[in-house]
Amino acid sequence: MSDIPVTPPVLAWGVATHPGRVRTENEDAFVAQAMVFAVADGMGGHQAGEVASAIAASTISDRLANGAASVDVAVAAVVEANAAIFQGAHTNPEQRGMGTTLTMVAALTSESGAGRLVVANVGDSRTYLYRGGRLRRVTIDHSYVQELVSTGHITEAEARSHPRRNIVTRALGIEPMVRVDTWVHPLVKGDRYLLCSDGLVDEADDGEIAQLLAANPQPQAAADALVALANDHGGRDNTTVVVVDVLEGETALPDTADLSLAADWDSEEPDRLIDAEVGSPAASVPDAADTGGATTVMPTVTAAGRRRSPLGTLLFVFGLAAIVTVTVVLVLAVRHNANNGPGPTTTTSSTSTTSTSTTSTTSPTESTVSSSTAAPTSGP
Ligand code: MN
Repeated sequence: MSDIPVTPPVLAWGVATHPGRVRTENEDAFVAQAMVFAVADGMGGHQAGEVASAIAASTISDRLANGAASVDVAVAAVVEANAAIFQGAHTNPEQRGMGTTLTMVAALTSESGAGRLVVANVGDSRTYLYRGGRLRRVTIDHSYVQELVSTGHITEAEARSHPRRNIVTRALGIEPMVRVDTWVHPLVKGDRYLLCSDGLVDEADDGEIAQLLAANPQPQAAADALVALANDHGGRDNTTVVVVDVLEGETALPDTADLSLAADWDSEEPDRLIDAEVGSPAASVPDAADTGGATTVMPTVTAAGRRRSPLGTLLFVFGLAAIVTVTVVLVLAVRHNANNGPGPTTTTSSTSTTSTSTTSTTSPTESTVSSSTAAPTSGP
């Protein structure tokens, strides 16, 4: 590549990964190089998850070793990883159904992009930004529980213990094409990025994570402390953490104003690959134990030992009851009107009640991927 950056960003980083206290295999993988960082959480039986996350990591590492000349270049690397895993899954029966999440931070290197970072995400591994003592998540999970949170059905706290929090709605290797969410961030001196697999998120809340990031100025010490925290809290899953410190760059705003993350997400783009599954009501989502055959809604871990949140169930039941009540009232009202005169809206009103609720379940993913670039070029 001819346009290698004149001044690469000055970053320091630390990495830690651990199989946890329950599993013997570690299906997570990571990339930690001067210009690109990533965490991948593989899924699929018989070590296939390990293969998938390793392909993702090696592809990203190869393609973006010198950073990304543009957001499209970063996305192309993810699309290439997707195609490689997809092909592997379809050539080797042992690896059928394998997939992986990927969250990534890469330096942009073109003249116009220099001094910025591109963050990319597919699945439910996460990138956080720790700035001025505040921890912000800067990726959106592609998961079933994220949709429940986005539609107000459950709270963030309930999502952390939801029995189906292991179901992701997007992953690399599942479809021939993949949609990648991206965000562009300025390089701000003092910023600290945290990339992690769900093994950390499942065991530690944002407050605990922020505390350890504050207490450990060195990125390697912070990464080690976070993995130790996950294991102290049970270590039910593999945990991988990459901590990246921005040593040079813009000066942060003195008031560390909110990042306007929403600005990147304001247009809608239909999700061609998985709309039906994603929009389906909860009843049609496969149980976590049902791992076979699901292509677009995939369990990443078994649900053994995880309990259903009673409050979440209660809210769901209340919501359902409200919809039923409104529908019945509308039908009765319309029938009443029909007795007194023409009433053309009977079916319309009851149908629209239903479709409104369906739409609201579907919309968050679509509205949160505006900056996402629909995988444009590759794929069979
Ligand atoms: Mn995991």
